[in-house]
Amino acid sequence: MDRVEIKKDNLAIARIEEKCIHCGMCLKTCLNNNHLTNACINCGQCILTCPSGALIPRFNYREVLNYLYDTNYQVMVITSPAVRVAIGDAFGYEPGTFLEKKMVSALKALGFNKVFDTTFGADLTVMEEAQELVERLKTKKNLPMFTSCCPSWVNYVHKFYQEKEENISTCKSPIGMIGAMVKSYYAEYNEIDAKNIILVALTPCVSKKEEIAHNPDVDFCITTMELVFMLKEMNIDFSKLPDKEFDKLLGKGSGAGLIFGASGGVMESTLRTAYYLINHEKAPQNFYNLQQVRGKDNFREATIDLKKYQIKVGVINKLATINAIKEKLDNFDFIEVMTCPGGCVGGAGQGLVAINKLEEYQEKRKAALYQDDAINNIKNSYENTEIKEAYTTFINKGKVKLHNVKPKVTNQN
Ligand code: SF4
Ligand code: SF4
Repeated sequence: MDRVEIKKDNLAIARIEEKCIHCGMCLKTCLNNNHLTNACINCGQCILTCPSGALIPRFNYREVLNYLYDTNYQVMVITSPAVRVAIGDAFGYEPGTFLEKKMVSALKALGFNKVFDTTFGADLTVMEEAQELVERLKTKKNLPMFTSCCPSWVNYVHKFYQEKEENISTCKSPIGMIGAMVKSYYAEYNEIDAKNIILVALTPCVSKKEEIAHNPDVDFCITTMELVFMLKEMNIDFSKLPDKEFDKLLGKGSGAGLIFGASGGVMESTLRTAYYLINHEKAPQNFYNLQQVRGKDNFREATIDLKKYQIKVGVINKLATINAIKEKLDNFDFIEVMTCPGGCVGGAGQGLVAINKLEEYQEKRKAALYQDDAINNIKNSYENTEIKEAYTTFINKGKVKLHNVKPKVTNQN
């Protein structure tokens, strides 16, 4: 076998056979990133290294364009943190330029009825995941807890690491969280029948295309690259667009939610809120620039002082790293895993970059997210006013489900 097998029914990645030159780069990439030879977990990193353009994300943007013209539906979009620091690449901006307001403007120019921020969904993930972590620390059950936002990682566990299925957090991913809120909270608040909402997730990630196939709340997933195609096909001049704001109710994210796009970000954000839940006071200053979990080493570890608990945490950057540390995993309390190098800023939907520049782009995109957290007055998910309102008026009344059903352990017999 000289190349990664991409099955015809793969929802994330497609191969154009006529373009394939059988160079083997995709297999090398998969071995290097994931240590896999014969199974696809949909991360799509092979797309970024294929020299002939034979590997591409599955595109769904044309279906979305059709819905944008259908007046029977309200078409809404949720935008992942990492898109706003990569969209500028296609329009001549410096790598890592933070273009949140222009991205919102571009989506409105395309005709989306509402533009919400998946960073709000990330804040919900933090709120729920921090509670779950505290609970597990109390009961000492299912530790280490693994993060659940990266579908390729979850996919990997279900396929190759079933003995740790119970360790994955039960929290929905940020798009799962905000998707549930759009179709329940937002629909109820605005007296819209959820059946008339088409919800599109704009992400840096091709794996989310497979994730949403199991989630009726999110109808389509398009990537940063697909947004660029849509703008170019519709002759919208991105650089000339005026800045615009997200729509209200699900449009505000904290700095903690935003840094989800960088490897180590989910860990840092969750620790800020876990500290608060345990001690009823804001975490010390170092939690707002947690150097031990930032950076680009493939495995970062730290002991974190949550006062009542001293916990051992680890950040896995690039899935294959797990193989080297499987033996010592049981010494940890909380582990973040992101399949793509750099985290979601390095996702396969972000658009093509020269292979020798990939790391530089990832680092600049990460720096832009951390910079926005640094200047954001709201750095904790629990301080986000829209989050507080959502809990008081809706979530605490049990009106929405924010956790996944526990994964079934496959019967091996
Ligand atoms: S990297 Fe691209 S061209 Fe090379 S074998 Fe894989 S699909 Fe074919
Ligand atoms: S790291 Fe992010 S972009 Fe990559 S597969 Fe996971 S969720 Fe998708």
